[in-house]
Amino acid sequence: MSSTLPLRHQASTNDFSGRRFQVFTARNLARIPGVSHLPESQRFAMQVVASVLPFRVNDYVVEELIDWDRVPDDPIFQLVFPQRDMLAPESFSRMAEAIRRDRDRGEIQQLARDIRGTLNPHPAGQMELNVPQHQGEAVEGMQHKYRETVLFFPSQGQVCHSYCTFCFRWAQFVGDKELRFASNEADSLLDYLRSHPEVSDLLMTGGDPMVMKTRNLAQYLEPLLKPGLEHVQTVRIGTKALTFWPYRFVTDKDADELLRLLERLVASGRHVAIMAHYNHPQEISTAIAEEAIRRLRDTGAEIRSQGPLLNHINNDPADWAALWRKQVRLGIIPYYMFVERDTGARRYFEVPLARAWEVYRQAMKQVSGLGRTARGPSMSADPGKVEIQGVTEIHGEKVFVLRFIQGRNPDWVQRPFFARFDPEATWLNQLRPAFGDKEFFYEAEYREMLNQA
Ligand SMILES: *Cc1c(COP(=O)(O)O)cnc(C)c1O
Repeated sequence: MSSTLPLRHQASTNDFSGRRFQVFTARNLARIPGVSHLPESQRFAMQVVASVLPFRVNDYVVEELIDWDRVPDDPIFQLVFPQRDMLAPESFSRMAEAIRRDRDRGEIQQLARDIRGTLNPHPAGQMELNVPQHQGEAVEGMQHKYRETVLFFPSQGQVCHSYCTFCFRWAQFVGDKELRFASNEADSLLDYLRSHPEVSDLLMTGGDPMVMKTRNLAQYLEPLLKPGLEHVQTVRIGTKALTFWPYRFVTDKDADELLRLLERLVASGRHVAIMAHYNHPQEISTAIAEEAIRRLRDTGAEIRSQGPLLNHINNDPADWAALWRKQVRLGIIPYYMFVERDTGARRYFEVPLARAWEVYRQAMKQVSGLGRTARGPSMSADPGKVEIQGVTEIHGEKVFVLRFIQGRNPDWVQRPFFARFDPEATWLNQLRPAFGDKEFFYEAEYREMLNQA
């Protein structure tokens, strides 16, 4: 099957044995080997939180990535396992009480829905403003917020090998159908792209498109090789499979087929970018993770890395510096450091913007220029991606210096603007203009856009 692959692929694959994907969810959480040794109160708390927020982990993450001697402080444990303080104390108590009293399933599910409703399930106007229209109808499973880039959510890719506790798309994993972006319509994607020559980038996202079988992924990507879609020059695939299931690229049955699909896209002159989600160097600590990176890079695809700054996981410049250094060594290009979004378990993970900038700056100081390609800390907010460029003082007023990395209006990009310094603020909507201005320069125009939507 792999006979047409370059020798380098074959030789190394044989050194790694495959692994059967084994998944744990809220239903069998207590049976996970490391978990069964934890104190009863902690296991109960995990159960309570997992009845509200999504939980899913696989055996590779449990056995190879988590250092169980360091639980609960281990960063990967925090990254996948529910923690008590992810819910507000009042929400936690209500759910704990319902479970203790053995309330019926319907009642517990209703309570879970109520609590989820308090957690801002659709941040950044994703449902209202970003879904594009084609011939008068909303195109399902797509977002088109910034002119050059279309996001596509293939329906078979709306799950992940494990879930991150801080995921901003958490709502789609807890069964609320209407919270879900998804499409199984390759045709509607291709029609849309054909009629939008301004789109240079297609970003396949999820969930995780890399949970899909190669033949399903090919159904969306292969048609790009046909005439009429030459303007789509860049194909990005967002994934955390390099962390959660690197076997996808090495030993899974259709791993070689996947690499060949990427090779064909590269051969067509496309820039193929694997947008790898990473938060901590421990995610790249195994031989299989390194091998997956090597094999992906052998296809001619680039790997770029992005991920949010999170309390309890990577709120430390040393972690970011180590992550970026390791990535650069392995040929990965650091791309974005995000600010944790205003949704889900943000109360547990959020870090003041002032601190986020400090972590970014202190990490940058420690790496060479090749590691300084990550922009951030960046907030993916309603009007656009807003970067904290720094904290300074202008005529005696302490301010945040901000800029748009992306804007709903492309003309907003790269204009410096200023907010009053606020040591507590964690999101754009908590910032106020500096120098006594009533509003930020883009706000009137943004309001107009909202009115027209
Ligand atoms: C970040 C983002 C993109 C991609 O922006 P780039 O600056 O090109 O990486 C596209 N669409 C949405 C909705 C985004 O949040």
